Amino acid sequence: MLKTIPDITIAVDGYSATGKSTFAKMVAKDFGFLYLDSGALYRAVTLFALEQGYADGDRVDTDRLIPALEGLDVHFGEGSKTFIAGRSVEDSIRTLRVSSSVSPVAAIPQVRAYVDRILHESGRNGRVIMDGRDIGTTVFPDAELKIFVVADEQVRAQRRYDELVSKGQSPKMDEVLANLRERDYIDSHRETSPLRRAEDAFVMDNSDMTLHEELVWLRGLVMGRFGILD
Ligand code: C5P
Repeated sequence: MLKTIPDITIAVDGYSATGKSTFAKMVAKDFGFLYLDSGALYRAVTLFALEQGYADGDRVDTDRLIPALEGLDVHFGEGSKTFIAGRSVEDSIRTLRVSSSVSPVAAIPQVRAYVDRILHESGRNGRVIMDGRDIGTTVFPDAELKIFVVADEQVRAQRRYDELVSKGQSPKMDEVLANLRERDYIDSHRETSPLRRAEDAFVMDNSDMTLHEELVWLRGLVMGRFGILD
């Protein structure tokens, strides 16, 4: 571990299944930072919308979902796990069903405002690493360090496929790949806070990197930028 890590906010953005959350979790552990997964909140709102019948596939009933946000209690609980009221939804938000509906839900400006409020509140004390699509551009545009993660499409699809299998699900590779493409398209073409690299973000292509190499890369970046000696 580096000797002194300054009280910074680290924003990690990028396309779907680039391994952002695995990377961010590892860095949080190494630096003693809080890790926050912004995508989990969009997924939780989507799970809620599906359960209530406000969403189905890529169709969303905004007239019913938007007013319902007022009474919806999505939050990060113990160990930064995601909750809807008292219920941990950490596993149920990671299914392909939720993945298939999340981008249309996340494109709704009122949903983004709802999630942004939670993210600001949860990350206000700094020493936090947050991953998502618009953290460096919209949520924390003043973050001291911004990383934009990219990876080869086939590598990403394989990673997501393996992740779903390891959770006991039986995905089809072509469906996984189609879902990644569709989400990337919707996420980068929506009107409110589209996915894009912040001008001051450092790009990490981790197609051929091990997790350890990713950590070494980031440590080097932090040391260079903040003048810390190992
Ligand atoms: O990171 P993850 O793949 O779990 O995110 C799920 C979805 O949530 C993304 O495809 C995107 O539609 C939405 N999202 C977003 N802005 C963020 C994080 C996630 O729009 N900051």
